[in-house]
Amino acid sequence: MSLIVQKYGGSSVADAESIKRVAKRIVETRKAGNDVVVAVSAMGDTTDELLDLAHAVTPIPAPRELDMLLSAGERISMALLAMAIKSLGHEARSFTGSQAGMITDARHGSARIVDVTPVRLREALDEGAIVIVAGFQGFNRDTKDITTLGRGGSDTTAVALAAALDADICEIYTDVDGIFTADPRVVPRAKKIDRITSEEMLELAANGAKVLYIRAVEYARRHGVTLHVRSSFNNNEGTIVYNPTTESENVVEEPLIAGVATDLGEAKITVVGVPDIPGKAAQIFNLVAKTGANIDMIVQNVSAAATGLTDISFTLPKTDGQTVLTALRADQSEVGFLGLQYDDQIGKLALVGAGMRTNAGVSARLFTALFEAGINIEMISTSEIRISVVTRADTINDALRVVHTAFGLDGDTEAVVHGGTGR
Ligand code: ADP
Ligand code: ASP
Ligand code: MG
Repeated sequence: MSLIVQKYGGSSVADAESIKRVAKRIVETRKAGNDVVVAVSAMGDTTDELLDLAHAVTPIPAPRELDMLLSAGERISMALLAMAIKSLGHEARSFTGSQAGMITDARHGSARIVDVTPVRLREALDEGAIVIVAGFQGFNRDTKDITTLGRGGSDTTAVALAAALDADICEIYTDVDGIFTADPRVVPRAKKIDRITSEEMLELAANGAKVLYIRAVEYARRHGVTLHVRSSFNNNEGTIVYNPTTESENVVEEPLIAGVATDLGEAKITVVGVPDIPGKAAQIFNLVAKTGANIDMIVQNVSAAATGLTDISFTLPKTDGQTVLTALRADQSEVGFLGLQYDDQIGKLALVGAGMRTNAGVSARLFTALFEAGINIEMISTSEIRISVVTRADTINDALRVVHTAFGLDGDTEAVVHGGTGR
């Protein structure tokens, strides 16, 4: 008997009809002779709606209470899904994150899983039940409080369950047929990818491809979990995300470009007039680090000979923008810079492919495509398998389409988006 972990995203359980449809699917998997553990997201855009509600009550909701509120979304869908399965004549039992043994650190809003103790899930499986677990939530042993795992965190719940229960496969069901060469909502000619390495998927997820949550990919990579990302609206084969174990596996599978991702969630801070002497970058980024913000690209200009001053720009999530500005302003005289600029109208595009390691000319082709479309590049950064550029936010979708075409990624047919609002 195999053990299959399935995760259903919000758009797959958006209303009562969808929940019944998903219940049938789960029952079919069970009838095929498998043990089934399901991680489920909140219905449709519930999490966003709960967040809006919290912000309507107070501008800065208390993190502990916000997690209490948001975790309610997955409680609703897990209970409804279990009911729907029972009404089909199969035993099903729902569990909250804490009942399922999802132990996390104490960081509200973006808690990390530190341990999984699925004792009750094993018992339920042994008794022949289908197990439904609320995604996106956990429990901290020290504070004894409910935590959430960050937006998109139900993916991590599924992967962590698959690792802890030593599942045979972890299926991520969503509203598109798999992982595409670009977001099919923006690039209709995007092609479905059959197989992608976890390394490439990690770069795509880190750069805005929200089809998989980056922490889920990291977790899968670390624990050797293979993922199958596919649609809950049909039976098509989706995309396998795998960890290459041999050199030959790596080479055979390696296309030049795996895909292109974009991100409109970042802002740029420029520290203007920084004395060009040793220790200043260290001072600035120590201040930033203390805020806990995750910075992405960093660019330092050549200093002007006349003044001995330089500018340092970096990008970071918009949500960290104000905190970091406040921290820098507080120590402005000590660091000795002249001023700060904040720009939240930027977009980031990342071209990802393991084949870049061994192919020249990728940057030239990227920059030419953007130039021909009249799109200005403001920042550039690279890793071994990725090139990222920052442009104006309002040009990012055009940039995505021209780059997709320039690298020959356009398919012959239009990609289908089965549901969801894209929110
Ligand atoms: P779920 O609710 O199932 O977790 P998400 O909305 O989190 O679904 O993720 C699925 C969405 O990710 C798709 O509808 C699509 O718009 C978006 N997406 C972004 N980049 C990609 C990509 N490269 N391939 C597929 N989908 C992508
Ligand atoms: N419901 C949560 C969110 O919208 C978690 C998830 O769907 O993965 O982010
Ligand atoms: Mg998601």
